[in-house]
Amino acid sequence: MASLGIPRNTIEILKKYNFVFQKKYGQNFLIDTNVLNKIVDAADITDNDFVLEIGPGIGTLTQYLCEKAGQVAAVEIDNMLIPILEDTLKEYDNVEIIHNDILKVNINELADRYNKGKPVKVVANLPYYITTPIIMGLFESKIPLNSITIMVQKEVAMRMQAGPGTKDYGALSLAVQYYADAEIVANVPPNCFMPRPAVGSAVICLKKHKEDLYGVKDEKRLFAIIRASFNQRRKTLINGLNNAANLPYSKVQIETALSQMGLPLTVRGESLTLQQFVELSNILQV
Ligand code: SAM
Repeated sequence: MASLGIPRNTIEILKKYNFVFQKKYGQNFLIDTNVLNKIVDAADITDNDFVLEIGPGIGTLTQYLCEKAGQVAAVEIDNMLIPILEDTLKEYDNVEIIHNDILKVNINELADRYNKGKPVKVVANLPYYITTPIIMGLFESKIPLNSITIMVQKEVAMRMQAGPGTKDYGALSLAVQYYADAEIVANVPPNCFMPRPAVGSAVICLKKHKEDLYGVKDEKRLFAIIRASFNQRRKTLINGLNNAANLPYSKVQIETALSQMGLPLTVRGESLTLQQFVELSNILQV
C-alpha cells in the first residue's frame, strides 16, 4: 500500500534515517496524495507498462507507480536515499532501484532490458536544476518513448506549452513540441512539498508523436536555427541567423529563403510556427 504521500509518514521516515536534505540535488519531496494521484492518472499507467522514474527521493511517487505498473526502474543520485528506498519499497517486487546520475544512465540499455522495444513511460517529480537536459536527453536518445509526465517549475511548464507570439514562446517550446504534444495537467503550490520550494510547480504531460510530423532534412541544423533565432530575441530573424557563429548563411541567402516563404524581411523568430522553422531550415539546406 502506498503510504508516504501523507506528511506524518514522510516525517517519520526522514527522522528514522536522520535524513538531511541536499539543496544541490533539488530535493523537494511530495506530501500531497491528491497531487500524487493526479500524476499517476495523467501518466495513464497499466500493468503492461514499464515506467522509468527519475529521482525517487524516499520513494513516495514510486509506491504509487509500483501499484499500477508492470515494472518500475527508479534512478536516484543521492546515496543516502538508497537504504531508505530499499526500506520504503520492500513490499514491491516490480521495482529496481538504480543508484546513478540520470544524465549518465544508458537509457537505451534500460529500455531494451525491461521493455524489449515497447514504448517506455517516464514519470518524475524532477530535480529542477536539470529539467531541460533530462527532457532533451530523453527525446534525443531516440528510445522508444510513449510519454513523459513530470513535475517541473511552473514557468518552465508554461514555456513548454507556449505558442508563437506569446512571451513564453522560445527554443524550449519548439524543441518540446517538435517531439511531443504538451499539456499542463495540474498546478501545484509550494505547500505540497517538503521542504517548500521557492517557486510554483506544475505537472505537464508530454505525449510523444507516434510518427515524424514535420519532414525535417537535418534536425541538428533545425535546432541550431531555432536557438540562434531566440538568442537575440529583439533582433530580426535575418540578423539573429546572420550573427550566429555556428551558421554559415549570408544575409542574402536568408532574405531569399524568407521571401520564398512569403514572410516579411523584418520578421522576428518569435512569430514563426514550428512548421515555418522546419520549412526555413529545409530551404537553407540546399
Ligand atoms: N520523487 C520524489 C518525490 O516526489 O517526493 C523526490 C523528488 S525531488 C524533487 C528530486 C529527486 O531527484 C531527489 O530525490 C534528488 O536526490 C534526485 N536527483 C537529483 N539529481 C539527480 C540526478 N542527476 N539523477 C538522479 N536523481 C537525481
